[in-house]
Order: sequence, then C-alpha cells, then structure tokens
Amino acid sequence: MKAMCHSLLQDLASVEERLRAAVRILLFLDFDGTLVPFVQDPSEARLDEGARQTLAQISRNARTVTTIISGRSASDICGRIGLDGVVYAGNHGLEICGRRLQFVEPVAAARQEKLAHLSTQLAAQLRDVEGAIVEFKGLTASVHYRWVAASEVARIQSAVEAAVALAPASFRLISSKMAFDIIPRTGWDKGKAVCWIKQHLGNGKALSIYLGDDLTDEDAFRVLPDGITVKVGSITATSARYCLADPAAVHEFLNWLTRHVLA
Ligand SMILES: [Mg+2]
Repeated sequence: MKAMCHSLLQDLASVEERLRAAVRILLFLDFDGTLVPFVQDPSEARLDEGARQTLAQISRNARTVTTIISGRSASDICGRIGLDGVVYAGNHGLEICGRRLQFVEPVAAARQEKLAHLSTQLAAQLRDVEGAIVEFKGLTASVHYRWVAASEVARIQSAVEAAVALAPASFRLISSKMAFDIIPRTGWDKGKAVCWIKQHLGNGKALSIYLGDDLTDEDAFRVLPDGITVKVGSITATSARYCLADPAAVHEFLNWLTRHVLA
C-alpha cells in the first residue's frame, strides 16, 4: 500500500488522454460514502437528482458500462439507483446482476440458511440493546450500532464475535461504518467480482475506473494495476492511484467525465 495518492481532480490531464482513447470504459462505483454521503439512517441513503442524471447519461453511452458495487444486497442498490443498463454487484460482490449477467457465489449461496439462523439468534440475543439492528441481507448480514449508546457497542461486538466463533470455518467478521458485517468465507471479494465482470463483459482492452471508500474496495484496487483507481474519503494507506475527498468530488469527476470524455 502507498501512503499517499494524487488528487484526481487536480490531475485530470493525466487521465484524459487514456479515457478518450479507450475503446471501452468500465466504471465501477461503490455506493455508500462514494456515490452518496453517509446519512444517519442507511435506509434513507438516496442518490440526488443531479447525480442520477449524470449516471443515466453515462449508462446510455455505448462506450461505457457502469457497475455499482456495494455491501448492500443487489436488490437494495438496484432499487436505490433504478437505472437500466447498469450492472449491480451486491453483498460485497457475491451477487452480480444486470446487462444479462447473473452470478451468485456458490459457497455463499450454500451458507445462506446457516447465516439466516445465525442472524435470528443474534437478533434474539441483542433484543434488549436499544438501537441494535441485525440486517440479514441474504448472502451476508450486518449488525448496525449507529443508534446504540457508545457504552453498549462492546457488548454487541462480543455477541457478534461469539456468534461467528461458533462457525469460524464458515464466516468471518469485518468492520464497516457503524456496523459489523458477517461474511461467508469464500475466497471471493470485490476484486474477484471486478475480474468476473471484466471477463464477462468481453473486452480485455477495456479501461477500468474504480471509485470506493471502503477497506473492501482495496481488493478491487489491487486487481486493477492499469486502471484508474480512486480512494474516496479520508487519506489513509491505499492501493489506489488517486483520491477524491467525498461524494461531492465524485459527482464533480462524473460530471467532468460526461462533458469532456463521453460527450
Ligand atoms: Mg462505501
């Protein structure tokens, strides 16, 4: 990982020529914290109208294929974006749909029932912790603690760790923004999902752009050494080549892309 990356908005000249010359552009966008700012209630996260129109314009461009990739389920992000011609990669890339692509990671699919059971048990255990929410998302689960008193978070963490420790070969725990995510152990990640999508969209020479703010996006940055990889948010060690400060800067870049490259 490199400690520093270049601000993409200050270095557009370095990517403009490559983007103009690209026969095909594969644009990958994370959702929360990348396309939309964090909101207190994740169920309220909405794409603003300007950004939706920009994305719609990009998705109509014949040279470009857009993928939204997220820890949310594919149906959740599809409902929030609502654009045709876009690929949706949900549950950290374990499920992929759109543009006639259809993929569910088989190991994760086989553990779905086990995870549902684990989620039900955790919800029962955390019933008396005010604000704790266990969200079963099909292939993964999230335990949200953003509404929980700070003094109770450690208790939630121990409960989640204990639940995962009962099936350590099947599941692992990752920390996301104000939540603990329970993920099946599959060897699959956002990087594998990106490779799968690149392969199935059938153009080895495509130029990939990937924007994301999560630790899980680092797996994708690493499989795109020749791509335009962009870490969104606070500056931390990252494998991305560029960085952008926040979703507003992401929107500015997407606007620039539609006006200067795809027009
Ligand atoms: Mg994110």
